[in-house]
Amino acid sequence: MENTNSIMDIFGTNVFNDKAMRQYLPKSVYYELKKTIEGRKELDPAIADVVAAAIKKWAIEKGATHYTHWFQPLTGFTAEKHDSFITPPNEEGSVLMEFSGKDLIKGEPDASSFPSGGLRATFEARGYTTWDCTSPAFIREDAAGAILCIPTAFCSFTGEALDQKTPLLRSMEAVQEQSLRLLRLFGNTTSRKVVPSIGAEQEYFLIDRNKYLQRKDLIYTGRTLFGAMPPKGQELDDHYFGTLRQRVGGYMRQVNEELWKMGVPAKTQHNEVAPAQHELAPIYAEANVAADHNQIMMQTLKRVAAQQGLVCLLHEKPFAGVNGSGKHNNWSLTTDDGINLLDPGKRPHENRQFLLILACILKAVDIHADLLRESAANVGNDHRLGAHEAPPAIVSVFLGEQLDDVLAQLLSTGNATHSLRGHKLHTGVKTLPDFTKDATDRNRTSPFAFTNNKFEFRMVGSRDSVTHSTVVINTIVAEAFADACDILEKAEDFDTALHDLTIQYISEHQKIIFGGNGYSEEWVEEAKRRGLPNLKSMVDAIPALVTDKSIQMFERFHVFNAAELHSRAEIKYESYNKAVNIEALTMIDMTVKQILPAVIEYTGTLSGIIQSLKAIDVAPTVQSELLRDIMSLLNEANAAVRVLRKVTAEASGIQDNEERAHYYHDHVMTAMDALRSPIDSLEMLVDKEVWPMPSYGDLMFEV
Ligand code: ADP
Ligand code: MG
Repeated sequence: MENTNSIMDIFGTNVFNDKAMRQYLPKSVYYELKKTIEGRKELDPAIADVVAAAIKKWAIEKGATHYTHWFQPLTGFTAEKHDSFITPPNEEGSVLMEFSGKDLIKGEPDASSFPSGGLRATFEARGYTTWDCTSPAFIREDAAGAILCIPTAFCSFTGEALDQKTPLLRSMEAVQEQSLRLLRLFGNTTSRKVVPSIGAEQEYFLIDRNKYLQRKDLIYTGRTLFGAMPPKGQELDDHYFGTLRQRVGGYMRQVNEELWKMGVPAKTQHNEVAPAQHELAPIYAEANVAADHNQIMMQTLKRVAAQQGLVCLLHEKPFAGVNGSGKHNNWSLTTDDGINLLDPGKRPHENRQFLLILACILKAVDIHADLLRESAANVGNDHRLGAHEAPPAIVSVFLGEQLDDVLAQLLSTGNATHSLRGHKLHTGVKTLPDFTKDATDRNRTSPFAFTNNKFEFRMVGSRDSVTHSTVVINTIVAEAFADACDILEKAEDFDTALHDLTIQYISEHQKIIFGGNGYSEEWVEEAKRRGLPNLKSMVDAIPALVTDKSIQMFERFHVFNAAELHSRAEIKYESYNKAVNIEALTMIDMTVKQILPAVIEYTGTLSGIIQSLKAIDVAPTVQSELLRDIMSLLNEANAAVRVLRKVTAEASGIQDNEERAHYYHDHVMTAMDALRSPIDSLEMLVDKEVWPMPSYGDLMFEV
């Protein structure tokens, strides 16, 4: 981009946004559609044909040849099937371009081929995608041409959600309804909508494609399964916020331009802590749109990398020994007239509405800590949560000094009389301007941190959709608001009831507040004393989905029914099992076909040298010592790969998914570690020329 004007010129050009709608739709239809988008009216099928014709005209002018219903099944990825706009050829043999209201509103992919966790039997294959007009259609340009992508929800024949978007939309309605109830209690009669907003900060690794292609582990599993640490890791902190290498800069530039065209407000980019690790954050948007933006962002990061001879790794832990990647989910609630419900204002101690909302959120997070933890569980994240850089697997809330102090006043005297202010920041240098600091410092180790006017949920994995964690946050907050409203709406003396309830919630749930170092061992002990759950692995976390407490809540707010929850738990176990199985098989494959042969060849070379030296009466001391060390590790690796093969075979014989997942976790993962250890040691001993794949150093430092 030459200058900022050109960003303004390209931003949103490939989005059927409000501007395009005004331009291409008849006025009356535009207003009708707006009402639906704003949630004030169901979609009138009569306008669908007109809207479809307008979108078609717009898309074809932009060069689109195909359209697709773009949806998010429970594979963890987005799905699409392209249809060109052409009609059957006429008598002259030419075609027209067609796209009807029905094409816009409804699609029918084969539901039996997507994970349903038992919700659908294979013979009951019908599933429907339905247009989600709250997230605008957009055109994606790639090697396949220009494709009109229509965001859709995906449900089964009987209306059960088979995707991520449907529960998200349901949960947004739930939290909106309860938030409005709460606002009305405080005399707000003007706000008509309350929407959760999400800002999803995306971390990723960028490596060279040619090197990537020499690593079967990266190709099949997205992470390295072997790899000795290079002499340098991240200890110097020289990569974090460092100057972008030109190759990376060129990549980011193209990513940004493509995202801006598709209306994704890419905002902040920088190098992250680990070598070859980077971050991209957009400006936040309504949860539903932000979740789609994040999917577009992940796809674009991958696609542009491929075009530039790079590979973008979205795995949570591509490399052992350095930081993994997460996705911070920044969440807030805002009304249509611009009130952020999480804004404490300048005098939080007097902001009774904010204090009630805060107390409700503390209650929600405390009661449903297990669900929140589960919402961030995926196979890759198991290597990250609880490792040294990531939030621990224990959920707690960081509020910061200012709010901690207000709550302490409330608990000790029943009244909060003042709020701590931010002081001036003095640098001691006359030429640097002094300014007022925020009232509260950050805590980078907290999984659920209050940051000015939003909560930042930091546990989510880099590859995951932000959807599931948002569904959980929306719904647990809706429940807490609903419970509070049930009491306060009946109260004879609102002020007293409000005061008492706020203090009651804070007092009952203060154990979830923690401002110290979340990465320390002491916190693990302390959390245990407080009775906070510490669900270390995905396998431990999944049951949280189907507890009575979870089912009751999700059913109460019509976000999930029990069958949907059970199916999701089933899908999670299944995906865990498949992922670990692929990792184990990949390790076996690499060991047997690449690593052992290379090491054996090298031992052959060494023995040859030893023989020749002996023949001329020279003692082969160094060579013999090296050979002995290598042989010992080779034996260990050989034994370990046999064990891994055995346990992997045993795992696949277990029918029940949950039982099998525990087996993978307890036995297969352990066997994988036991194999990795001697092989990483071998990598340090064997000639680099014969080692069959690029090293960590090659991958992370030579992009
Ligand atoms: P921080 O420095 O607190 O991490 P940033 O301004 O860098 O905050 O924002 C991080 C992410 O949070 C960005 O995606 C940003 O757009 C988003 N964000 C900022 N304010 C809000 C809000 N009120 N609600 C949701 N997300 C927000
Ligand atoms: Mg942040």
